[in-house]
Amino acid sequence: MSLFHHIERYGHESVTFFSDPASRLRMIVAVHNTVMGPALGGCRMWPYAGIDEALEDVLRLSRSMTYKAAMAALPFGGGKSVVLGDPKREKDEALLLAISRAVGGLGGRYIVAEDVGMTEADMDVISRATRWVAGRPLSGGGSGDPSEATAIGVFEGMKTCLEQLGEEPTVRSRTIAIQGMGKVGFQLARLATEEGAKLFVSDIDSARLERAANELGAHSVMPDAILSVPCDIVSPCALGGVLNEKTVPALNCRIVAGSANNQLANEVDGDALFGRGILYAPDYVINAGGLINLSFEQSSPEGYDRERAMRRVREIATTLTRLFQRSRAESAPPFRVADRMVEEQLAEARAHQYQTEGG
Ligand code: NAD
Repeated sequence: MSLFHHIERYGHESVTFFSDPASRLRMIVAVHNTVMGPALGGCRMWPYAGIDEALEDVLRLSRSMTYKAAMAALPFGGGKSVVLGDPKREKDEALLLAISRAVGGLGGRYIVAEDVGMTEADMDVISRATRWVAGRPLSGGGSGDPSEATAIGVFEGMKTCLEQLGEEPTVRSRTIAIQGMGKVGFQLARLATEEGAKLFVSDIDSARLERAANELGAHSVMPDAILSVPCDIVSPCALGGVLNEKTVPALNCRIVAGSANNQLANEVDGDALFGRGILYAPDYVINAGGLINLSFEQSSPEGYDRERAMRRVREIATTLTRLFQRSRAESAPPFRVADRMVEEQLAEARAHQYQTEGG
């Protein structure tokens, strides 16, 4: 398949390959859409099996950043970068500075942030040679780790889902099954426990599971059983693709609301959820808290202000309410309505841009 075919498939604006033999950098930056503003998205360092796998990952991830930013009404577009290599063995200062030069060379069309294999401290090093960086440590004026903001957004979204089902917008006395006790899952579990929810949790890392049981009194469940636990809300906070032809028929809940990216294995699985009457909060709408938080580091001339950022994160609830209303009015699954809302918004902005350019 030709390279252009790959790029045109998802409608990307540009895909740039960077190489720096001295630091052994091999990096791809995918800018999906900049019609709403510069592309903002993380840099993932991963030991990909090959260039095709890395390319597919960066194309898919950058596209979802466009949808996430647009749905959150941020003045940013979608982009992502991948670095081929093992972060444990191959990430050093020379490599980070080479990433910095690559990002700088794009002149602000792409703003880099952390993702799998990268840390806040790495963003600090990258920021030495380019200003197009977000997610630097709080101590250095950055917005820090985005996972708390993501957890807050998901928590607010869960309450909106309950409200849509005609209940009080609180998780008090509700049962929630959370898959993944990582950075987002654990903080979400803590918020839910503090409000009086009963929790079932799973993780393949037994230490993380134990911590949730000891600190939050959560009930541990085997990883392969968490999605079918009888409960009010299932919250996927580990991996993508978990809502599939096997798991959707086995769900025993009324709501699916979690932080994981790309939760639906296929669109038909979203239709199946809708068919079963399970309210699914589309992943890129409910998990936008981290991105919203990051955007405040880049877009506020007066500097990052956590309070303002968190107020905006809580507006995810309003966005979801609007989405669910339209989904009901159109008798269409929320994930399809969300995609349509973004596509309409982008088409309108693009038309405006053409008009302006055409004078
Ligand atoms: P993390 O790596 O800290 O946590 C993921 C956890 O899932 C780990 O503890 C891991 O052991 C566990 N896990 C992996 N496979 C599992 C399985 N089969 N069953 C149960 N647990 C399993 O990641 P995170 O930052 O907490 O992010 C969680 C998810 O949310 C990811 O999909 C991520 O892409 C997405 N997300 C995160 C953010 C953020 O701000 N961190 C923002 C948007 C989306």
